Amino acid sequence: VERTLSIIKPDAVEKNNIGKILAHLEEAGFKIVALRRTHLSRAEAEGFYAVHKARPFFGELVEFMTRSPVVISVLEREDAVDTYRKVMGATDPAKADAGTLRKLFGSSVGENAVHGSDSRENAKIEIAYYFPASEVA
Ligand code: ATP
Ligand code: MG
Repeated sequence: VERTLSIIKPDAVEKNNIGKILAHLEEAGFKIVALRRTHLSRAEAEGFYAVHKARPFFGELVEFMTRSPVVISVLEREDAVDTYRKVMGATDPAKADAGTLRKLFGSSVGENAVHGSDSRENAKIEIAYYFPASEVA
C-alpha cells in the first residue's frame, strides 16, 4: 500500500478542526500510521517549502506555517497520494469542489487548511523530512 504526508495547517488547528479533519480522512479510508502536533521552526518551514523559494508568496507562506502549531501525519491506503489530493481539493478553497477539505475548512489560497504530497517521490521525501525511520517502519 501507498503512503502520503498530510499537514493540518495553522489556520485549521487554530479553528479547532484537527478532529474533524482526521475523522474525514479515516472516513475516506486512510489509516493514520504516524501523527505529531508541532510548532514548526522557521528553518523547518523554509526547508520543507524550499521548492517555492523563488515564488512571490514564499515569505508569506513561511510566516503562515510558523504562526501556530500544525498536525503532521502519514496516511496509508491504496493510491494514497492521488486520493488524498482529491480529498483535499484545489489549492484555492474558492475553486475547490464541494465536500473537499479545502472547501470545508480553508479560507483563502494562502490559508487552505491542509497540505498533501504531490507525487509518490515527494511523499517519501516529505515523510522522511518529518518522521524518523523508526516511527514509520
Ligand atoms: P500544498 O503544497 O500546501 O499541499 P498545493 O500543492 O495545492 O498545496 P502549491 O502550489 O504547492 O499548492 O503551493 C504551496 C502552498 O503555498 C499552498 O498550499 C498555499 O498555502 C501557498 N500558496 C500557493 N499559491 C499561493 C498564492 N498565490 N498566494 C499565497 N499563498 C499561496
Ligand atoms: Mg504543493
